[in-house]
Amino acid sequence: DTLGHDAGDELLVKVGTRLQQSMRSQDTIARLGGDEFGFIITGEHDQQALEQLADNILKNVSRSLTIRQMRDCRITSSIGISCYPNDGGTLEQLLKAAEQAVYAAKNAGRNGYAFFTPAMFEAAKTQALLHQEMHFAVSQNQLELHYQPIKRLTDNCIVQLEALVRWNHPERGLVRPDLFIPLAEKTGMIREIGQWVRQEALAMIGRMQQQGLSVPIAVNVSTAEFYDHSLADKIIAQVEESGVARGSLLVEITESLLIRNQQETCAFLDKLQQAGIRVALDDFGTGFSSLSYLAAFPADKLKIDRSFVHQMTANRRKESLVDTIITLGHSLNMSVIAEGVETEEEEALLRSKNCDNVQGFLLAKPLPEADLIEFLRSYKP
Ligand code: C2E
Ligand code: CA
Ligand code: CA
Ligand code: CA
Repeated sequence: DTLGHDAGDELLVKVGTRLQQSMRSQDTIARLGGDEFGFIITGEHDQQALEQLADNILKNVSRSLTIRQMRDCRITSSIGISCYPNDGGTLEQLLKAAEQAVYAAKNAGRNGYAFFTPAMFEAAKTQALLHQEMHFAVSQNQLELHYQPIKRLTDNCIVQLEALVRWNHPERGLVRPDLFIPLAEKTGMIREIGQWVRQEALAMIGRMQQQGLSVPIAVNVSTAEFYDHSLADKIIAQVEESGVARGSLLVEITESLLIRNQQETCAFLDKLQQAGIRVALDDFGTGFSSLSYLAAFPADKLKIDRSFVHQMTANRRKESLVDTIITLGHSLNMSVIAEGVETEEEEALLRSKNCDNVQGFLLAKPLPEADLIEFLRSYKP
């Protein structure tokens, strides 16, 4: 989408050529529309042969290519596989099944393939239902925030909370964000949800202050909310209206945002920073952002993704990555928060490495408001 028509067409032609090269002459390849291609592989093949073919295609497509002055451009693909006659008797049915498998491959992380299974249609039905029902989630007050405390390692004080959204569905009970946030991002509902989350977090800050508790709250801002160019102004206005101190709301953005929209992200962060709203880089270490970008971004905090913290005590390589991230954060004047701390050993190790803050099940799970207040009242550093 960002390339413009000519370069986009050039890219598609190059990819199409590579796809053709990955096929045998008796197989058929067709562009289905947009950036989707379909293949018909004739003859009998066992699973292994198909896996090998999928692997070949993935490798072939992701080799670097050059289009219009853009050197070393790389693209990834996701492949879904359906087989006659088990997954469908007609081409149309087979295509539908393959399409479901593509979604599964995408969800499992890009640049992979998946075979169709009947359970995928069930998953698709659930998604379609949730999609319909999500419109009521905000308007009928079905969303709620849970709060996970974050503590400072030097004195064990609770210095911050992270607000995590849950959908209290009338039939399904509490739906976890992993199930509906990606859907909300695709449909644009995320903007409404994000707005609600900030509103609720700001109200919570007010309620806590009335009870003599002043702990800043961090809210998550999704990449998809960035399509709204006035997002920073809206956030600042929301804080103003709520009447709470500007420093009491923090914003977490993921590292992937830095890579995709450098200039815009930079402007967004600058605006927030000038308004006194602090920013944390979430899931740090998972997005491979270049160090030079990192130096240019005015963020205050860096959150080490929990995949690094997990098993850090048993895995030397993970431990040294954590070391490096802490040093990097400090050298850029950022304070460092380790996510997903589940054991005493992990906490002790992080303390010995001068990590600033920890968040994780060891301290507390995300708690509903009443439980959180109770936790804060009875907490002893
Ligand atoms: P995240 O921002 O990385 O949030 C941290 C997640 O790690 C939370 O999952 C939290 O419950 C979980 N967690 C915390 N400590 C531990 C631990 O010790 N061990 C393990 N295994 N997990 C731990 P949760 O609440 O399910 O949220 C998942 C993701 O959904 C969040 O990841 C965030 O990306 C997204 N999300 C949650 N709330 C919002 C929101 O209001 N807006 C947006 N845009 N995204 C949200
Ligand atoms: Ca977060
Ligand atoms: Ca995170
Ligand atoms: Ca995450």
